[in-house]
Amino acid sequence: MKDCSKKGVIVIGGGLAGSEAAWQIAQRGVPVFLYEMRPFETTGAHSTDHLAEIVCSNSLGSNLLSNASGLLLQELRILNSLLVRIADSCALPAGKALAVDREKFSLTVTQHILKHPLITLIRKEVVDLPTGTVCIIATGPLTSPRFAEKLQQLIQSPFLYFYDALCPLIDAHSIDFNYTFKASRYSDSNSSADYINCPLTQDQYIELSQELAQGERVKLHDFEKEIFFEGCLPIEIMAKRGLHTLRFGPLRPTGLIDPRTKKRPYAVVQLRQDNIAASLYNMVGFQTNLTFKEQDRIFRIIPALQKAEFVRYGQLHRNTFINSPKLLFPTLQFKILPLLFFAGQLAGFEGYAGNIASGLVAGINGARIFQGQEPLVFPRQTIIGELVWYMTHAEPEYFQPMKANFGLFNVSLEDNLPQDKISRTLALSQRSLKKIEALARQINEGYS
Ligand SMILES: Cc1cc2nc3c(=O)[nH]c(=O)nc-3n(C[C@H](O)[C@H](O)[C@H](O)COP(=O)(O)OP(=O)(O)OC[C@H]3O[C@@H](n4cnc5c(N)ncnc54)[C@H](O)[C@@H]3O)c2cc1C
Repeated sequence: MKDCSKKGVIVIGGGLAGSEAAWQIAQRGVPVFLYEMRPFETTGAHSTDHLAEIVCSNSLGSNLLSNASGLLLQELRILNSLLVRIADSCALPAGKALAVDREKFSLTVTQHILKHPLITLIRKEVVDLPTGTVCIIATGPLTSPRFAEKLQQLIQSPFLYFYDALCPLIDAHSIDFNYTFKASRYSDSNSSADYINCPLTQDQYIELSQELAQGERVKLHDFEKEIFFEGCLPIEIMAKRGLHTLRFGPLRPTGLIDPRTKKRPYAVVQLRQDNIAASLYNMVGFQTNLTFKEQDRIFRIIPALQKAEFVRYGQLHRNTFINSPKLLFPTLQFKILPLLFFAGQLAGFEGYAGNIASGLVAGINGARIFQGQEPLVFPRQTIIGELVWYMTHAEPEYFQPMKANFGLFNVSLEDNLPQDKISRTLALSQRSLKKIEALARQINEGYS
C-alpha cells in the first residue's frame, strides 16, 4: 500500500461503516484515502460495485423514538450522518420503519463520496496493514481472506464468528394478489398500508412450518459449527424450535385484519417493498440456508407465491468479528496500535444503523487524532455511547455482536423513569437526545 501517512487518513472498506467514517473525516478537513476491493474482488454477498451496499433486508429499523433503533437514527441525524441523511431521502413506504430503495441509497452514497474533494476512492483489495498512519479498518463481516489472515496475525487471537442469512427477493409481477391484502401492522384508516400480507390458514401454516423444519439445507464445512445471531435466525432454524414458533415470530398475525374476512388470519407472511419502482419485494424474516431447490418448492405453499419468481434466493454467510472488549478502547482505537481503529460489523456492531454509528465514531476520532486532538469517548446514556461502551466493555469470553437496544442503558431507581414501557423508553430517548445535542455542539465547533 502507498504511504499516505503524511497526507491523510486511510479507511479500508467502503461499506456502511467505512463510507460514513470517510465522510466524517473529510468533513473535518482531513484528506481520506478510501480503499474498496469491489468490483475486482467480491464478498459473495454484495452484488454491485457501489459503496455502502445493503446486502439483505432494506430496513434500517424503526423510526419511532420508543424504539432503540429510532433513537439511534435520530442521534445519527443530529450528528450529521451522511448515510442516514441519504437513507431519509431514499425512504420507501414501510410503516413506522425506515426502509430504503437499496440501489438508490448506495448509488447516492457513492456519488457523494466521489464528489468530495478530500476523498480519494481507491478500488483495490488491501492485503497489508498500513503502518505509521491513522487507519480505520472497516472491512465488514466478509473481510477478504488474505486481509483477514493479516488481521489475525495483528490481533494474535482467533476471530469469532456467527452465521447470518439473506432473505429471498421476489418479482412483484409474479405475486398472486388474489391471496394478499395491503396493510401495516396495527394500521387504522389514517395509516398507510405499506406491506403486502399473505394470510395463511391453519392447515397452510402447519404445512409450511413442517416443510421448513424438514427442508434440505446447504451443508457447512465440517470445521464450522452452526452459530447464529439470535436476531437474524434462518427461518428453518426457527421452525425447528417448535410448530408455533413462527406464528409468534415473523409470521405473527397480530395487528393485521384481512379486509375480506374482517378477521385476523391464523398466520401472515409479510412482503416488504424493496425498490422505488415497487417491482421487487423481500420476504420479511425469511432469511434462510435452505437449498435453492427447496426454497423454490417450499415457499410455493404460500398461496400468493404459487407462481413467484425469485430474483434472489436466500443464502447463509459467515460473519467474522474480533473480540472488541479485549482489543479496543472506547474510542474504537486498537489497544496495541492506537493509530488503528476498528469499525463496523468486524468490531461487533450489528444492524445497519449500528454499523453506520460505529463509522461515525471512528471517523470523528480518526480525524481528531490526525489533527493532534484528544479522541472522544461518546457519553454514556446516549444509545451510541452505550453501544460503543458495550463493544469495548462486555465480557470477552461471551462477547457477541449487539444491536441498539434499551437494555444497554444502565437505569437506576434514581432516574425516576415512568413505569410503563413506552413512556419509559420515550423518557430515555429524550434524555439521550439532549446529551447528543450537547455533544454535537461540542464536536462541531470549528467545523461548520
Ligand atoms: C449475508 C448477510 C446478510 C445481512 N443481513 C443484514 C440485515 O438484514 N440487516 C442488518 O442490519 N444487517 C445485516 N447484515 C450485517 C451487515 O453486514 C451489516 O449490517 C453492515 O453491512 C456491516 O457494515 P460494514 O461496513 O461493517 O461492512 P460491509 O457493509 O460489508 O462493508 C465492508 C466493505 O469492505 C470491503 N472489503 C472487504 N475486505 C476488503 C479488503 N481487504 N480491501 C478492501 N475492501 C475490502 C467489502 O467489499 C465491503 O464493501 C448482513 C450481513 C451479511 C453478510
